Amino acid sequence: MDVLQEMKDYYYTGETKEISFRINQLTKLKKIISFHEDDIINALKADLKRPQFESYVSEIGVILESISFAINNLKKWSKIKKVKTPISQFRSKSYIKQEPYGVVLIIAPFNFPFNLCIEPLIGAIAAGNCAVIKPSEETVNVSNIIQKIFDENFLKKYIRVVQGGKEVITTLIHSKFDYIFFTGSVTVGKIVMKGASENLIPVTLELGGKSPCIINHDANLKTAAERIAWGKFFNAGQICISPDYLLVHNSVKNEFIQELQKVIKRFYGEDIYASPDFARIINEKHTTRLINIIENDKEKIIFGGNYNLEDKYIEPTLINNASWDDKCMEGEIFGPILPIISFDAINEAIEIVNGRPKPLALYLFTENEDVANKVIERTSSGGVCINDVINHYSNHHLPFGGVGNSGMGNYHGEESFKTFSHAKGVLNKSTRINNTLIFPPYSLKKLHAIKKILK
Ligand code: NAD
Repeated sequence: MDVLQEMKDYYYTGETKEISFRINQLTKLKKIISFHEDDIINALKADLKRPQFESYVSEIGVILESISFAINNLKKWSKIKKVKTPISQFRSKSYIKQEPYGVVLIIAPFNFPFNLCIEPLIGAIAAGNCAVIKPSEETVNVSNIIQKIFDENFLKKYIRVVQGGKEVITTLIHSKFDYIFFTGSVTVGKIVMKGASENLIPVTLELGGKSPCIINHDANLKTAAERIAWGKFFNAGQICISPDYLLVHNSVKNEFIQELQKVIKRFYGEDIYASPDFARIINEKHTTRLINIIENDKEKIIFGGNYNLEDKYIEPTLINNASWDDKCMEGEIFGPILPIISFDAINEAIEIVNGRPKPLALYLFTENEDVANKVIERTSSGGVCINDVINHYSNHHLPFGGVGNSGMGNYHGEESFKTFSHAKGVLNKSTRINNTLIFPPYSLKKLHAIKKILK
């Protein structure tokens, strides 16, 4: 790939490593995003029929904030960190230098097509890398805006947008990038990792899965219903960390379901199809997949269940008494369908979570701190929210990423910087003192001496 070589040549000029250069590029990016705010929001409307509010919050506001955070902190993050040196290496200085990887590849999915290209890019720029961005081929309008923004404002040998589907990506993942940052499904994540392994390219995999949401008997049900309905139906449920299914304590299940139904009507009105605040599914393939779930699990639906394939509309739908044999529990739902399972004791809920692949997020609603600590301690997930959903994502001070099946590696804030940096250990030894103890010819005397030091 000649283009990659051109980018590598540019990277090795060292220009992108200059702190002032990184800050200038981030500042420019921030200005350009603000300038194109309407274009980005309109593109999201065209691709996902996403409400302006949701688009601003999730793809513009959070990104502008993240760029500001990186600009304000990257000098601190890049600082050389002095560390101690053992006496055996007298006289040396040791330190850790954060070094960019070089030219990195960022592959993004369709559901937050702008954010999931730019958020990792912020880390890549902050760390001093060049980057190739591969936006989703499903969101043509957003991908074209991304292309325009970078083609018109950044050197192509520094940041390049490459569009395309499977063929393009196959070429990309078999090329000698210095790092691959992939966001998408578990299935494609495995393909990416396999491709990257040929050239031993390090990867971050931000994947998906079924994120459980536990509602304990002592939860504030009204607040839980509002927060869950918001998090589940935002972007019509096409969020990697939306609550995939609910585990509700038997004693509060009926009351909670009533609350949830009330909230959904309050948020979107009686005629949800007509609501300007409810998005559409990305394409016909995914709409059909969700319709299949509705049709298969029809007799358990207690709310919603309507759809319109032509308009890619799936109504917020509640499936009661879901079981693991139901279609809705087969894989990640990634749509506005919410299965409900009940439990009688918190240990049972913990067992259910631990019996499945490690989720990207775990949510728990409880007023009992001990229960919260117990669940955090005894389960494993990429991240956790107590008495909320999704919002751990929006705190730049928290690492965001999966574990096990939900991915590997973290990003956001300083974690993004670290992800796109190699921590290089440097030992710098003085020549004024030359310790000959370790050199041959070895002797018993030398061995005794070294044993006194290395113990
Ligand atoms: P996807 O895996 O189908 O696509 C992601 C990217 O991979 C796209 O750019 C696509 O072009 C590319 N791709 C598709 N098929 C490929 C193949 N055979 N070989 C190589 N590349 C290929 O994912 P999607 O449908 O766009 O997005 C939904 C998935 O992404 C869900 O599973 C969701 O949970 C996950 N996701 C995860 C996060 C996270 O932060 N962990 C965020 C958003 C979405």
